[in-house]
Amino acid sequence: MKNLNLIPLFLLAMLFGCQQPETAKTSDKPNFVVIFCDDLGYGDLGTYGHPTILTPNLDQMAAEGQKWTNFYVAASVCTPSRAALMTGRYPIRSGMCSDKSRVLFPNSVNGLPQSEITVAEALRDLGYQTTAIGKWHLGHKEQYLPTNNGFDSYFGIPYSNDMDAQTEGHRYWDFADSIPVRYYNVPLMKDTEIVERPAEQHTITKRYSQAAVDYIKSHKEEPFFIYLAHNLPHIPLFTSDDFAGSSLRGLYGDVIQEIDNGVGKILQTLKEEGLAENTMVIFTSDNGPWRVFRSHGGSAGLLRGGKGNTWEAGMRVPGIFWWPGKIKPGIQTDLGSTLDIFTTLVSMAGGEIPKDRIIDGLDLTETLLQGKESPRDNMLYYRGTEIFAARLGDYKAHYTIQGSYGMWEEKEKLETPLLFNLSVDPSEEWNIYEDNTEMVAKIDALIEEHRQDLVPGADMLADRE
Ligand code: MG
Repeated sequence: MKNLNLIPLFLLAMLFGCQQPETAKTSDKPNFVVIFCDDLGYGDLGTYGHPTILTPNLDQMAAEGQKWTNFYVAASVCTPSRAALMTGRYPIRSGMCSDKSRVLFPNSVNGLPQSEITVAEALRDLGYQTTAIGKWHLGHKEQYLPTNNGFDSYFGIPYSNDMDAQTEGHRYWDFADSIPVRYYNVPLMKDTEIVERPAEQHTITKRYSQAAVDYIKSHKEEPFFIYLAHNLPHIPLFTSDDFAGSSLRGLYGDVIQEIDNGVGKILQTLKEEGLAENTMVIFTSDNGPWRVFRSHGGSAGLLRGGKGNTWEAGMRVPGIFWWPGKIKPGIQTDLGSTLDIFTTLVSMAGGEIPKDRIIDGLDLTETLLQGKESPRDNMLYYRGTEIFAARLGDYKAHYTIQGSYGMWEEKEKLETPLLFNLSVDPSEEWNIYEDNTEMVAKIDALIEEHRQDLVPGADMLADRE
């Protein structure tokens, strides 16, 4: 009799005790889609004020979600900015910034060190399926590719779309809007294999967006993380026939509108597949507009500077978070950073933040879901391995200034810092240092505190073959 009584208990345990919690645990984890553009400026979207680039899908995403107006990258050029997003750490710590080479090149020897933990590795450990689509730029040799950095699969170009140039002595502007694809012999890769060279860049944006849509449809049973890093609107610019001439802003606007169209398809797919209520989508950019390319570079709206420098235009970018029914909709004026993506995603997925290293990223979950104050109150503006400026609350102090890429290249270490109140003066026009030296002292202390436990990583960008 004793044994018979045990049978139903055993069955109950099978049905409710063992299986159910595991299923519940999996479905609790939200999916993540991070859409990361290249050189798209703060002012390049309709929702951030561009008058002639039409981005209805991103505008709607911002209206339904949270639009951040003080959202920063940790470097104003591609490689270090991407390293920061992937690791949640200022690139100085991983060695993914350098004073000898600003980014990685096709003849670079190194890439993101294996000792770094990427957000993909952290999420994969939590049971996520992961894929990287688009531009990587954290090392093109096999050991540095996405498939060795936490991503189950990869489809994209390993570095910038203007590299491997075969321009035969022509200047970019000799061809204006119709530069031949073959002038940039960039490989398109699937996992670790080259599948197309040169990458057909006219259709690349469309193919990246479609790859994300296909991935969503075929991976909806388990939580997923999609890192979709468009290689445009970094020059050279290309669009598919469907978007050629679609924008009053010219080819640059056409490119953004094609990216926007892809965002619409991704959001639509999430809705159709019943995943919208369990998926957070983030849209942002790796650095500000490359203004030296004039109409082929973007706009940072009212912000000063551009790609490559530490004025606001170089490092403040659009930041849109969407998760219907979960994110508290609105405009968020608090500080946030791509550094925070690592910590926020790992935290939302129920994971632990690594304790064996310094993680600079902060958890934005309560700000996103409940509208609470952001935990971030400061941002350091590195150029290479040097801190050029720092922001604390509303105030930003510049210690060193320098232009970039052919625009006011001269480096100037300032005798007295420049100080701006960015809430009042986002264009950094009115230096208020003289009347606010105590604020500069506070920013000095912030930098000093950061330096105290800083161990710079070995330079991963300098060595070339
Ligand atoms: Mg870039």
